[in-house]
Amino acid sequence: MSDEDPANVADADLPEDVDAPEDVEPETMDSEVEEAAKTVPRGVPLRVEGLRKEFGGITAVDGATFEVEAGSLTGLIGPNGAGKSTTFNCITGVHRADGGEVYFRGEDVTGLRPHTIAQRGLVRTFQIARQLGEMTVLENVMLAPGGQSGESIARSVLPGTRGGVVAEERALRDRAWETLEFFELDHLATEYAGNLSGGQRKLLELARAMMTDPDVLLLDEPFAGVNPTLEEKLLDQLHELREQGLTFLLVEHDMDLIMENCEHVIVMHQGRVLDEGPPEQIRNSEEVIEAYLGGEV
Ligand code: ADP
Ligand code: MG
Repeated sequence: MSDEDPANVADADLPEDVDAPEDVEPETMDSEVEEAAKTVPRGVPLRVEGLRKEFGGITAVDGATFEVEAGSLTGLIGPNGAGKSTTFNCITGVHRADGGEVYFRGEDVTGLRPHTIAQRGLVRTFQIARQLGEMTVLENVMLAPGGQSGESIARSVLPGTRGGVVAEERALRDRAWETLEFFELDHLATEYAGNLSGGQRKLLELARAMMTDPDVLLLDEPFAGVNPTLEEKLLDQLHELREQGLTFLLVEHDMDLIMENCEHVIVMHQGRVLDEGPPEQIRNSEEVIEAYLGGEV
């Protein structure tokens, strides 16, 4: 159904910060300050409340509630089958939740379609990289959701607008190249995505996600199958992107990696949040240790 679509079109034209931060003096809100405000994230861009998802008789997510702070690298951990990937699926509209709400930058986005949620800046990568193997790396990046230019038929056929579309396409291509360079994939631009190694696919997955200009990026095991050198590089890139204002929620089974890189860790177990806090607290949590030793791994 297209129930949410008219709202999207209306939303798209609204200024983002209608209720601007009250702690900023009006006279200091010149464009420079506004620009800085964009790159210094505040608040809680993502809030999940009582999220529930069932598959037949299985309750995969059973009332999960948590928040992700702006500019954080937050870890989401838990034994296999704890409901982490399903939570990501519900947050990003891949699955329709059976209960609960997802708020993104204060708006209820529960039940919106994946592309709508992605357009708003809440973007995920998949545990199993999803790329079009018969397209080149560059094409994959250029065709990332939300990255396309000239997608409106009207704009491409109306007289006088064609030049604009061509310029936009060039801009998109430039941006795709920059993104490939950032992830050091530029030397593979003309390679078919299907020929990439597992680790390179993970990088491509991230590159595609970055093309959508996310505010919050949900990463589902981005390091699985990635060699240690590449993993190190990827982590550096995540930290660099975070310094630029991005917020990350990271699912990862390597506990040490989570503990060393995340300032806040959320632990899921049997579809619920079992515990959360700074790494040192989670590392010593008896509940958490028990959940991991509980034979479900
Ligand atoms: P995690 O990512 O934490 O390992 P998942 O979210 O993948 O856990 O899975 C949680 C539970 O939901 C598991 O019992 C899994 O078998 C089940 N599950 C996940 N996706 C599906 C699906 N599409 N159909 C049926 N059951 C599913
Ligand atoms: Mg999973």
